Amino acid sequence: MRYHNITKDDMLNGDGLRVVLWVAGCTHKCKNCHNPVTWDICGGIPFDEKAKKEIFECLQKPYISGITLSGGDPLHPANCSDIANLIKEIRRDYPEKTIWLYTGFCWEEVCTLDAVQNADILVDGPYIEEEKDTSLHWRGSANQRVIDVKKSLEAGKVILYCED
Ligand code: SF4
Repeated sequence: MRYHNITKDDMLNGDGLRVVLWVAGCTHKCKNCHNPVTWDICGGIPFDEKAKKEIFECLQKPYISGITLSGGDPLHPANCSDIANLIKEIRRDYPEKTIWLYTGFCWEEVCTLDAVQNADILVDGPYIEEEKDTSLHWRGSANQRVIDVKKSLEAGKVILYCED
């Protein structure tokens, strides 16, 4: 897996202050994507042990609520297993921290993946310019959903974490 950036103390991509990993690779090609530089799966730099250590050190800070995995698309087929492994390691070492996952795929396409099943929140769907709404929390267009993963898996249908 390759990545572009690790941002810290981020307040825009999930609840609380978060560390955000921006991975490389996305096939959705949304019109007016906020981050087209991340589309190339060969872009950015390798996600190595040093990058992982940087994230884990950040997660140790008590005021950091958790991690958000974004991009690019963390669920691009080339990223999926590395992301699933990273999530498992974070769960093991930091069980009190929350894990948010952004993807251009819809819940129905990815809800059986390990990476999704072990996350807390999935923000799903492509960005659709015609449905842009800057008043929404944590997403850019109204088609995208902020999904409570555990409740949705238990209910067998999408349960939203927030609707506004
Ligand atoms: S899914 Fe996200 S990163 Fe990918 S093209 Fe759409 S807005 Fe851009």
